[in-house]
Amino acid sequence: MFEENDLGILIFMFGAIVGSFLNVCIVRLPKGQSLVTPGSYCPKCLQSIVWYDNIPLLSWLVLTGKCRQCKAVISFRYWLVECLTATVFYLFYRHYGLDWVLPAYGVMVSGFIVAAFVDFAERIIPDEVSVGGMGAGLVLSVLVPRLHTPGHEELLLGSFLAGALVLACIGLGFIYPVFCKHLMDKEDALADRMVKGLVLGSLIVITLINANAPHLPAGQAGLLALSASLSGLIVGGGAVYAMGLVGDIIFKKPSMGGGDVKLMAMAGAFLGWKLVLLAFFIAPFFGAVYGIIEKIRTKDSAIAYGPFLITGVLVSQFWGEQIITWVLNGGIYGS
Ligand SMILES: [Zn+2]
Repeated sequence: MFEENDLGILIFMFGAIVGSFLNVCIVRLPKGQSLVTPGSYCPKCLQSIVWYDNIPLLSWLVLTGKCRQCKAVISFRYWLVECLTATVFYLFYRHYGLDWVLPAYGVMVSGFIVAAFVDFAERIIPDEVSVGGMGAGLVLSVLVPRLHTPGHEELLLGSFLAGALVLACIGLGFIYPVFCKHLMDKEDALADRMVKGLVLGSLIVITLINANAPHLPAGQAGLLALSASLSGLIVGGGAVYAMGLVGDIIFKKPSMGGGDVKLMAMAGAFLGWKLVLLAFFIAPFFGAVYGIIEKIRTKDSAIAYGPFLITGVLVSQFWGEQIITWVLNGGIYGS
């Protein structure tokens, strides 16, 4: 019915509309405001914005970035987020074709865009995005099992790694109070216990599925994908959490935000343990380059790490398999 290019244009336009909604999330989520009401309004003169001034990508250009009523400057970020979302949706379509993984990755990358821009501005990642994203990753993995195609060995290795990371975090948790009593926060005790319970429950579910994996009928791809998604969630969150504990103990001050832990847990739920672990190792390279520039520019060494984790995740998603093959073949020393 459609030419491939027509469909690409439609997906680009759909991305711009989604981007327009992501702008609302970026502004309102950190303030705890409703995403639905009121409709769009100018933050300066509080006039509501009519529909023809609210067309993604175009209106900002037509109005040359100014409110029609009061001529206040409308941030370029609004246009940037719409353009970025549209472009990313189009690139995902070109990469994966018309496939059920496309809406699933669309949800993931929308969460990433909101997380990155809020983290840059406010140094936090809203739970609505990260925790909501974890739930979405698990549910979508069951609905679209093709998000994960692990072999049996990869499944077992993933559950082994998840278990090892949990043990490492428990071990670090024991020595933590000796070095970092001043960093401990009593108020989070309940949330803490809930997380521990959930992680333990997940490990049991993973183990049960994996132990029975060879005997599962062919139609149970959803269960295997759930196991892969849970392993990814624990490995992604656990790696950042363990690194944060080690960082705290070494530097005696908070080194890693809880938002970063939840963000990587979300990425793992979508991409599985292998790619999220690779992303964890790639991200510091991007962070380091930006960190050096920022340090020279502002003399402030505390940077928002979320955007670099996300960059690492996307690089890993698109080129991860090649990078892993290259490293296993000896990298620059091989061939
Ligand atoms: Zn105005």
